Formats: sequence, C-alpha cells, structure tokens
Amino acid sequence: MLKGIGVSSGIGIGKVLLIEEHSLTYTPKQITDTQAEKKRFNDAVELFCENTEKQAEALKVSAGAKEAEIMLGHISIVKDPFLIGEVDKLIDGGQCAEASFETMCDMFIQIFSAADDDVTKQRAADVRDVKSGVLSILLGISEVRLSDAPPETVLCAKELTPSMIAEIKKENIVGIITETGSTTSHSAILARVLEIPAVMSAADIMTAAKNGDTVIIDGGKGDVILSPDEAQLADYTQRREKLLQERRELEKFREKPTASADGTVYELVCNIGKPEDAAKALEFDGEGVGLFRTEFLFMDKTSVPTEEEQFTEYKKAAVMLKGKPLIIRTLDIGGDKDIPYLGLAKEENPFMGFRAIRYCLKNRELFKTQLRAILRASAFGNVSIMFPLITCVDEVREGKALVEELKAQLRSEGVDFDENIKVGIMTETAASGIIADLLAAESDFFSIGTNDLTGYTMAADRGNSDVSYLYSALQPSVLRMIKSIIEAGRSRGIPVGMCGEAAADPMMIPLLISFGLTEFSVSAPSVLRVRKCISTWTKEKADEAAAKAMSFATQKEVYDYLASLTG
Ligand code: PEP
Ligand code: MG
Repeated sequence: MLKGIGVSSGIGIGKVLLIEEHSLTYTPKQITDTQAEKKRFNDAVELFCENTEKQAEALKVSAGAKEAEIMLGHISIVKDPFLIGEVDKLIDGGQCAEASFETMCDMFIQIFSAADDDVTKQRAADVRDVKSGVLSILLGISEVRLSDAPPETVLCAKELTPSMIAEIKKENIVGIITETGSTTSHSAILARVLEIPAVMSAADIMTAAKNGDTVIIDGGKGDVILSPDEAQLADYTQRREKLLQERRELEKFREKPTASADGTVYELVCNIGKPEDAAKALEFDGEGVGLFRTEFLFMDKTSVPTEEEQFTEYKKAAVMLKGKPLIIRTLDIGGDKDIPYLGLAKEENPFMGFRAIRYCLKNRELFKTQLRAILRASAFGNVSIMFPLITCVDEVREGKALVEELKAQLRSEGVDFDENIKVGIMTETAASGIIADLLAAESDFFSIGTNDLTGYTMAADRGNSDVSYLYSALQPSVLRMIKSIIEAGRSRGIPVGMCGEAAADPMMIPLLISFGLTEFSVSAPSVLRVRKCISTWTKEKADEAAAKAMSFATQKEVYDYLASLTG
C-alpha cells in the first residue's frame, strides 16, 4: 500500500491513467526579427487566454463560479504588464520567446516558492501551470487531453494542475493520485468541490503504477492500493457503496439549519488550524468557526510571527467567514505541542506544566502581540477571543485585563476593533469543571475541550497505550464534568459550546442536547453528519437517554447503552 495525504474524501476504484509530463525542452535560439518574435509570443498568450477561458467556462458548470476564478487567475498572471514588459525586453535583447518567458516565470516561481505561507506558495504552482501552458503552445505540443479519459479512470500524475482538472469529465474520473501537493493546493480544493476522491504527495506513484492497473484509493485516509486482491476489492466496493449512500443522505442536510427534531436550533461550527481552513469550513456548510487553533501559525515559522503577520492571517479568516462567528484561541503550546524556537524547557510532566495560558501570561509581550492582532482583526468580522487551559479565575481576570489594556491602546492610536468583542474560555481541565460557576461569572462563553478534559479528569494521557482504556469522554466522571459545566454556563446565561472531538460523537450528541449545549464545533467533514444526528433527537428523547446514561456506574455500561440507541 502507498501512503499519501488524503485531500478529498471518498473511495475510488478504477484503472490507472498515467499523465506523463511532456518534455518542454527546446534549444534556445538567437532572434534577429524581434518584432516577429514578440508577435509570436503575443499570439501564444492570446491562444492561451482563449483556451483558459474555455476551461474556466467548463469549470463553472462542473464546479461553480468561485472555482472557475482559479482559472481566470491564470489569465491575470499571463497578462501581467510587468511580466509581458520584461519578456518583451528579453526578446528585444535577442532571446527567443520560449527562453524569455521561461526565464521570467522561473523568477516568479522562485520568489513565490520561498514564501512561508501556503497561499503564496500556491501562486508558484499557478505560475508553473501558466508556464507549461504557454510553452506548449509556443513549441506546438498539444497538451494531454484529459477530456478523453474513459469511465472509471484514476488519474495519476506528478502534479495535477487546475487547468488539467478543468478539462476532465467528472463522471469518468473516480480518483486522483499525485506525487506532489497537499490539502491547500488548488487542485485539492477542486477535487473536493468535484467530489473526486484524491490522494496527494503519494511518492513514487508514477513509477509504481502502470497504465491500466487496477487501483483503489481512499481519499479520507490517504491510502492507495495498487493491484488489489479479490478480498480487498470486495471490501472496498462495499465501503464505497456505504459511503455513497451516506453521502446522498447527508446532502439533504446541506444549507439547512441545525435543529433537533422538535425544532431547537443549534450552532454548528468548525475547528480550524489555518485561515484557509475557514473556506473549507464553509465548503462543508459549517456555520462559522468555533475553534481556530492559532499554534499552527507559530509552528510553521522559525520565529514568533509579528503582529502584522498574525493580523493578516486572522483578518483573512474573519473576512472569508463574512460575519459568521470566528473564535480565535490564543496560543496553546506546551504539552504535546512544541515550538522549538520558543526554547521551552524540558519538563518532567509537560501536560501539568508551563503551557498555554500559563506560558502566555508569563510571556506578556508575545501574548500582547497576539491579542493586538486578534483585536485588530475583529474590525473585519465576527471575532471572539478564547483562552485555553484555564484552571482558575485569576487567569481569566489577568487575560481580560490585558485585553482591556490593549483595547485602550488601540483606541488611543485610532485603530479599529470590535468594542464588544467577546472573551471566553476553554473548559478543559478538571479544575475548570469544578469551579465552572465561578468561571462563568467572568467569561462571555465556554467551549468544552473534551480532548484535554478527558485526560485531566481521568489523569490518563491519551498517548499512553497502557492507560488508554481509561481515556473516554463517556466515563461517568467526564460526563458529570461536562454536565456541570453546561449547567453552570446556562445558569449564568452564557452560551456553552464544545470543540473537543466528543462534539461529533453520535453517542454523545443526545447527552449534549439534554444538558443544554448550544454550539457544536467539529471538523469540517463532520458537519453534515452531526447536523443529521442532531435532527434525529427531540429534547424529551434526549433527556430519557441522558438520564439513563448518567445512571450507570461504568464507562462500559454507558457505552453499551448509547451504542444500542445509536447503532
Ligand atoms: C480539547 O482539548 O478538546 C481541544 C479542543 O483542544 P486541543 O485538542 O487543541 O488541545
Ligand atoms: Mg485542549
């Protein structure tokens, strides 16, 4: 089995079609008639734009107007006045059109590839796509005609460009495997929109696979099985059918409110780690973002991101969400999340140690930089601040005092921010559960982090397989903790959400409805499944299930009972 990154979920079973790259090599020529060469270049650019417009039209039909813009972006690249001007200058100097255009494209590719952020890196892939398109025209090479791919095809390529995807007939392509790319590549986004299972960064697929080989791809897990045996084929065929059936069912819940069977409406938002994931949240019909884990922005760097860098990222997410909620969690490092350049000391007991809000309150400059960036971004959307790992009231007070100090600073500088920005906390420690009433008096909202809450309540590290039998949010202790947190929030009149994995667990959902949770924050691909699950419960039925579940003394009894209800 080959392993790659699953970028578009679903199971595809079909025959390999290798997309070999054309050699775009040529012998550079010295030009004397530079006017004629410039005309040849301009004609190639015009033809490229014409083809791209056609591809964009096709993509508009198959994937939608937003996706077609990816192709139209290629026209802006090739028509960029600076690029054209520089190519003309090189031709004037006697270089042929191919060499002149390639030199300029390579320069842009190099600049964009060196960037730290994925969005700029993606521009390098776009320029590469444009470069091969125009060079193919100049060299008279006809590009691969993907529109001729037969039914049941799994496309395999070193890199699949958006222009290639724009050409395919969706109904014939059952999978995509590439050697490069990742979740944020434009091709990955397109594959998701077209609902074609896709695995990227599957190294060596082009050498391991032969045209016509049977292949299975699991775009959720990132698995590729070449020449599967009978048993694997039967197994995956069955899984594919089940998935397709489920997907058809779930699509009925798209663009519907999240409501229980008796009409109570809930908020169903997503957990994200990068601003671009906000678009993914919307793509999967999430109603906003309930947890933006900002530590990933810090992990991707070699030094603390500046206020400006952070502001740009937070603003990007806020703008993408167009007024839908965006809860930004302040830096949650330590424990299992290390950031080498911060030089955190090795600790005997990192999960009990110097992490998250504790680290931030002791490293004020770093914390203030982040809070200022969030506050500034709040002028561009519906932003809230959330503190992680709260264990006592002092931490909330100190954090909020800093927010107030920075608000005053921004006000005096005349910088816009949301004066009414909400400041909430993650309830994810045993201490926060026990004093939830005291914390509710200090917070605008709670979000229950069951991943940590389970660990801290059970004193069980989920990474330690010897104690993993204890690590379950369905332990009576954890359930009581969850219930009392929700009740404390409710009696103080603040909204209580959940952003731990348990929020998407069909066994947990009736209990959360019964306890009075108001917001579910889940991974984007779980949105429709959770919406469907919520729609099957009335408060009365959920109360019955919760009362029974809470009467058991062991996790196994709770589990068996809820499993019998939810299948
Ligand atoms: C949690 O602890 O449940 C949570 C959502 O935070 P993280 O998984 O980032 O620790
Ligand atoms: Mg946590």
